[in-house]
Amino acid sequence: MAADPEREIRALASWQRGLRAQFPIVLGHPGHAYLDSAATAQKPAPVLDAVQRYLTTSNANAGRGSYPWANSTTALLERARERVGEFLGDPDPGGSSVHFTSGTTEGLRTVARDWLAGYLCDGDEIVVPFSDHRANLSPWLEVRELLARQGVRVRVRELPCQAGSGDYDPAALAAIVGPRTRFVAATHVHHVYGADMNVHRIRGVVGPEVPICLDAAQSLGHLPVSVAELDVDFLAFSGHKAMALPGTGAVWARPRQGPAFRPGGWQGTPNTVGIVSLAAALDWLDAAGTDRIERWTAALTSRLTDGLGRMPAYEVLGCRSSLAAGSDVQRRRSLVAFRHREIGAHDLGFILYSHGFMVRSDGHCQAGREEEGGSVRVSLHVYNTPEEMETLLTTLATLQ
Ligand code: PLP
Repeated sequence: MAADPEREIRALASWQRGLRAQFPIVLGHPGHAYLDSAATAQKPAPVLDAVQRYLTTSNANAGRGSYPWANSTTALLERARERVGEFLGDPDPGGSSVHFTSGTTEGLRTVARDWLAGYLCDGDEIVVPFSDHRANLSPWLEVRELLARQGVRVRVRELPCQAGSGDYDPAALAAIVGPRTRFVAATHVHHVYGADMNVHRIRGVVGPEVPICLDAAQSLGHLPVSVAELDVDFLAFSGHKAMALPGTGAVWARPRQGPAFRPGGWQGTPNTVGIVSLAAALDWLDAAGTDRIERWTAALTSRLTDGLGRMPAYEVLGCRSSLAAGSDVQRRRSLVAFRHREIGAHDLGFILYSHGFMVRSDGHCQAGREEEGGSVRVSLHVYNTPEEMETLLTTLATLQ
């Protein structure tokens, strides 16, 4: 049974105020509401401090010199690698690996190019999402093309979704899984529908052997993410969406089939500053408590969906259920995309910015939806407030 949003907001209010006060960009812009955290999150002072400290005390390249700054940079990177595993609840750090990337896109592409392409055989099938972020479709299609040029035919099947909520459909998945199913790619939280895609139900359908790769771009930092509970083999995320600097991210990997995950080639100088910021961001998120962040943003999102639901001029995309309705069928996470029945998404985005709201208004890089004219997406993080939701709803009401 889901919690009452008003009670959640009251229970968490002083905790949230303390956290919000740690975001200089938020405090420095009164009258503005940053509602685009699904694109990239703002950075708390401890992350900015960690970057400043590193750059002013021990900035050097890693793994190359033997002087103290080079050694401490190498140690920071190794510690950050361990930190990612800990944050993800890795049950077997010795058997898994963490590879730093520039974000989810590069992470998924690395799994595709450096692992999946060497694992698939002629006649194999893979199941991938056709309506999620393009970053979680293109790499798999590219592998199919690459292998086709080598005479290896791979069938790409669509991971079925339920109409309305956008959530995956385990029954329909069961109907297409067969002995040649060798890999599944999925998304934890949908970047347009806000749906928690119930990824843990996929394992039960595909069985214990089929590797599952998860795009956690919209869940990491927003809710507890455990590779053990989700029972996945690969997990890619973007550090910049989890309060670290842009150009950061990682793939965690422990494939239960096929070769070990060893991204190939000479990697060059790593993004040391970014990785320092990533470790600091994970520390900050752990201290804040991703379980409470989840409760806070769910309560605000619930207010927003309930308010929009009372305004006929707006159509909310994806699942409607809110915490207020007590639904345990489908839980919407920290974002809501919607359309005005008459005002186009771009125009609505401009209008909202004239009132101080920074939202995203386009097609959100959703695969297969380029022609649909887009939507406005409001995406939240722990620094957002109930007052922002109220003034946003009031503004939206005047546009009906
Ligand atoms: N996957 C999802 C679900 C996303 O929302 C995004 C970015 O919005 C990505 C992948 C791509 O992330 P990045 O641009 O950090 O590589």
